[in-house]
Amino acid sequence: MTIKRFKQLIGIVIGAALMLAVLVAVLFVSVHARRFETEVIFLDIGQGSATLIKTRYGQNILIDGGPDNRILDRLGRNLSFFDRTIDIVIASHPDADHIGGLPSVLERYHVTLFLDPGVVHSSTVYAALQEALSRQNVPVRYVSSRQTYELGKAEVLDVLYPDIDFVGKDIEDNNEASIVVKFSDGDIDFMITGDAPQDVEEHLVSVYGSLLDVEVLEAGHHGSDTSTSDPFLDATTPEVVIISVGANNRYGHPTPRIINRLKRRAIPILRTDEMGDIRLWSDGEFVELR
Ligand SMILES: [Zn+2]
Repeated sequence: MTIKRFKQLIGIVIGAALMLAVLVAVLFVSVHARRFETEVIFLDIGQGSATLIKTRYGQNILIDGGPDNRILDRLGRNLSFFDRTIDIVIASHPDADHIGGLPSVLERYHVTLFLDPGVVHSSTVYAALQEALSRQNVPVRYVSSRQTYELGKAEVLDVLYPDIDFVGKDIEDNNEASIVVKFSDGDIDFMITGDAPQDVEEHLVSVYGSLLDVEVLEAGHHGSDTSTSDPFLDATTPEVVIISVGANNRYGHPTPRIINRLKRRAIPILRTDEMGDIRLWSDGEFVELR
C-alpha cells in the first residue's frame, strides 16, 4: 500500500468515526427530549420506597425500587414507551423494601449509572441485585463521600451521605449507610433520606447546616419513630412531608408520634397509601401537586 492510499484509508476511518460520534450525539438529544417542567413522583409501590425524578432536560433518576416488580407497572405509567433509559439509579441501602424491585428495572431499562453505599448484605434479594448489575454490565459507583451531579442549568442532584466509607462492609444496621440525596430544581429542593435514622440526621445537621433547607421532605424510614427528628425538621423546614408506606403495614408506619410531630408544626402530609403515586411538578420557583 502506498503512503497516499494509507492516508486515504485513515481519512475514511476518521470520517466514519466522526459520523458515528454525531449519530450518538443526536440519539442522546432525541432520547433526552426536553420537558416543560420537572416532575418528582413518589411511587405507590406498597410498603417500601421508590421515587422517580424526571428532569426538564429529559434525564430520569430513580431512587430505590420498592419491594418487588410492581415498580415496572409504576414506571410504565410514568415514562413514555420510548423512554427506556434511566440515567441514574440509586439503591439507598440493601434492605428488600428498597432494592427488591431493582433487578427487574435493570432488565427492562438501560441504566447509565448505579449508585450504591457499597454495604454488603447476605440476603437473596441483595444477591439477585448484584447478579443483575453484572449481567447488564451497569457501571456502579459507590458513595463514600459527597457527590454532586449537575443535570443542566439550575438542576442538581447532591448526594450528601454516606460521607463514610461503608464499601465492602457488612454492618449491623443497613439504615446507617442509607444514601441521602437533595435534588434541586432552581429554588425548589427535595430531600430523600431512605431509612436513615436519627443519628445520621444529626450528623447531616452538623455537617451541612442550612444547606438542608428544603421545600419537600420524604419522612425517613416510612414515618418510623427512628427518623424525622425535631432537630432534622428544624434544619430542613419542609413545606410538605411525603410518607412512602403500604396500607395497614405490619410495622405500624407511620407512627402516631411522627404524625403528631408534623401536625404540631402544621406541615401537610402526603401519603402513598392514601393517594397512590404522588406527583409533584416544579417550574424552579413553585412546586405543585397534580
Ligand atoms: Zn425501608
